[in-house]
Amino acid sequence: MELSFHGAAQNVTGSCHLLTCAGLRILIDCGMFQGSRHADEDNTEPFGFDPAEIDFLLLTHAHLDHCGRIPLLVKRGFKGEIITTAATRDLAKLIMMDSAHIQEEDATHASRRARRRGNKQIEPLYDVPDVLTTLDYFGRVVAYGEVLHLSDQVTARFEDAGHILGSASIVIDATESGESRRIVFSGDLGNRGHEVLADPTPPPEADYVVMETTYGDRLHKNLDESVAELVDAIRQTIASGGNTVIPTFALERAQEILFHLKRAIENGELPSALPVFLDSPMAVSATEIFRRHAEGFRSALRDEMREGRHPFKLPGLRFTRQVADSMAINNIRGGAVIMAGSGMCTGGRVQHHLKHNLWRPESSVVFVGFAAEGTLARKIIDGAKSVRIYGEDIQVNARIHTINGFSAHADQRELLDWIAPAGAPKKVFLVHGDKEKGMEKMRKELTKRGLDPYCPTLHDAVEL
Ligand code: ZN
Repeated sequence: MELSFHGAAQNVTGSCHLLTCAGLRILIDCGMFQGSRHADEDNTEPFGFDPAEIDFLLLTHAHLDHCGRIPLLVKRGFKGEIITTAATRDLAKLIMMDSAHIQEEDATHASRRARRRGNKQIEPLYDVPDVLTTLDYFGRVVAYGEVLHLSDQVTARFEDAGHILGSASIVIDATESGESRRIVFSGDLGNRGHEVLADPTPPPEADYVVMETTYGDRLHKNLDESVAELVDAIRQTIASGGNTVIPTFALERAQEILFHLKRAIENGELPSALPVFLDSPMAVSATEIFRRHAEGFRSALRDEMREGRHPFKLPGLRFTRQVADSMAINNIRGGAVIMAGSGMCTGGRVQHHLKHNLWRPESSVVFVGFAAEGTLARKIIDGAKSVRIYGEDIQVNARIHTINGFSAHADQRELLDWIAPAGAPKKVFLVHGDKEKGMEKMRKELTKRGLDPYCPTLHDAVEL
């Protein structure tokens, strides 16, 4: 048996691991590299294996850094079966389609520039027809806990990872030449006490564990305090006659915020008719997928839904898909909550809303997610007095709130608690983390606990 690492190796993005066992080649995730200056080149590089030889692709969840290279895998010859949960299948389709649109647009712009310099056309990494072909390879859907037979010698089981809707850890049992091995892939793990999703399911005893380390170096702030901060910020803004702009990631964070706003309205902390705009076609689609997949929610919430109460349905909620409807929001002077992408304000409709509200002392901007260095969100959070949006200098007079307690990832304590039931694995492979931060800290903590952690490099292959 062999395990090799073709992404998220001493890096946070591009998750892609290959397990070769009992005559099968099983890929776990095939994500896109994102964020770094070399990401575009990294994505076009050879995978490090032949896509045509892969039998199964098991997908842990629908984030782009886990599913974003699947259409490229198909384009380069993959003919196997893609297996995942029902919610992940639907969300991955949305994410891959959106990615194909972005790839096509980027290639068109780059080609225009290239032609002006006398260079040749730039091809997109993949396009919409490639995604449509990819969907044909999605085969069985699995429920959490169900045992899936990949062959007489190999089974796989998806367990709830509590990270985003449909997310899973994957447990593989394989027998080769009379010897059995259990390998657990954590996928991305969620934080506990999330009110929408269930807590991550702990792993069984395992021979090997492949584990994410995104926040291996930090502890999250308390979620209740963060919700209270969010509600306070909105109340204050309503009282001063401005709007609250919340730059939001379309998948998961947007729905989580809707859930907390609904609870606050039910508790009388916010006005029942509070106008809330979800101004992101992607977030609107994602919310509709959430509605169809109650099986992915925490059990208390499933019961509510069975009684006909919907966790994301607020009395004053408006979905805006059309550009004209989005522009109309600019005429609202006060009292509205506007949720729009992108979460880091690097593009998308949120830029319009910032342009119309950032200069107004009565408005506020509430950041509820991660903001990378160099992004517009980061500049505002770091206290810029003025920022440039659509070629105009806009004063930052609005109240700025940064709420850190919302996270889709387990923190250090939760990661250590999660792995404890795995017992004494022969090795723990650390992936999906910053080499100097989360991953290094996790390596030290696991070593202290008598485990044998290993941080593979890209295309590293290890005999199991
Ligand atoms: Zn993720």
